[in-house]
Amino acid sequence: MLTIYNSMSRQKEVFKPLHEKRVGMYVCGPTVYGDGHLGHARPAITFDVVYRYLTHLGYKVRYVRNITDVGHLEHDADDGEDKIAKKARLEQLEPMEVVQYYMGRYHKAMEALNVLPPSIEPHASGHIIEQIEYIKKIIDAGYAYESEGSVYFDVPKFNKDYGYGKLSGRNIDELLTTTRELDGQSEKRNPADFALWKKAAPEHIMHWPSPWSEGFPGWHLECSTMSEKYLGETFDIHGGGMDLKFPHHECEIAQSVAHSGHPAVHYWMHNNMITINGKKMGKSLGNFITLDEFFTGSHELLEQAYSPMTIRFFILQAHYRGTVDFGNDALKSAETALGRMLDGYRRLQELKASDVSTIDVSTLEQRAYEAMDDDFNTPVLIGVLFDAVRMINQVKDHTASATQADIDFLRKFMDTFLVEILGIRVDGDGGSADSLKPYRDAVDLLLEIRSNAKKNKDWTTSDLIRDRLAAIGFSVKDTKDGVEWSV
Ligand code: ZN
Repeated sequence: MLTIYNSMSRQKEVFKPLHEKRVGMYVCGPTVYGDGHLGHARPAITFDVVYRYLTHLGYKVRYVRNITDVGHLEHDADDGEDKIAKKARLEQLEPMEVVQYYMGRYHKAMEALNVLPPSIEPHASGHIIEQIEYIKKIIDAGYAYESEGSVYFDVPKFNKDYGYGKLSGRNIDELLTTTRELDGQSEKRNPADFALWKKAAPEHIMHWPSPWSEGFPGWHLECSTMSEKYLGETFDIHGGGMDLKFPHHECEIAQSVAHSGHPAVHYWMHNNMITINGKKMGKSLGNFITLDEFFTGSHELLEQAYSPMTIRFFILQAHYRGTVDFGNDALKSAETALGRMLDGYRRLQELKASDVSTIDVSTLEQRAYEAMDDDFNTPVLIGVLFDAVRMINQVKDHTASATQADIDFLRKFMDTFLVEILGIRVDGDGGSADSLKPYRDAVDLLLEIRSNAKKNKDWTTSDLIRDRLAAIGFSVKDTKDGVEWSV
């Protein structure tokens, strides 16, 4: 019996889907800006495993993961302009060119991490009409008001009728005193009110017509609107990173309750955050590492490259509600552990059967299901998989023997839990960063020759190396500490 920790009730609950065989799951996807980074990897992998396990249990899962390509108030500190819009304006690109470019990079990183594509990946910018209709309903219900061409959600009124802040446990009095001054504050009746529609400033290049103004929807709205469109007014699971509980998910709850009179979500699931060497990841802290940099080892905080499967395995070695701290030592032991697991998988294919069995495989499957049924406890499952690997090694090393039935069982067991449910790639170079090491060393060697050439003022050679590397797809950057490269 599958149990899921529901962030709303703050306890594990037996999973009862709305429909017997079908599950609707919505996960807040990336804000399309910047390269795919480590912060993207954890929710993607967490809910990929949820998706895989529910599918394995026989549910037909409709998994919706959105792409925020408009309206996210992730503004530049300097001028308050939306980042996508700003980049588009500065580089004279269509905003959708910026979105397309970053989506491509994000999808490539997800594929490398063996994250399955969701069933539907809707863009906020493709659902403006639905968002406008959604706002109209909230206004009609009396929980939103227009002010100077923008529309705001009336938080105090909602709080009085339904209670606001239940998911994050915040109370509104605290909110009133801690809400930061934002652009357009004076248009609001209350500082805690949030924007459903924002009138676009003249220099804003992403805007659409609406009954209230030429403008754009507020960030929180897209998830309420698109989850309703694709999963219905009520659906089973809503996931995302813990950092989204407030304000994003709290606002989603208020919107859907105001819109339809009842909450939309049955189970709220939140993955915990990642840190790097004990610190939060952030551009200003110099520890903002992209997934590409992990895969190539080109960031100065990394002592080596780590393969996508090492990253995936490392994340799954922790329960999704626990923290994960990325450091070189921890990543290297994950790499070693994954290597042992994959060696076991390979050796399993070579096992020879005996007439008698001295291993006991009888409890493996039950323990594996118990682990996953216990709120997707992947670290416990990995422990059970290592028990299987120990048996495989004993048989391979002739300290134990297995029948053909044991071997067949172990093959099915590893294929189900390691490959299908945990999503670990067992073929090719998926597991080992070291298979790429000779290539990385070759690039480093070329850059060493270039650096010597520069010292000798041999600019022809140094430029030739840089340009030819660039033509192959390596970008080489000279920094004050030396040279950095990435693919
Ligand atoms: Zn969302």
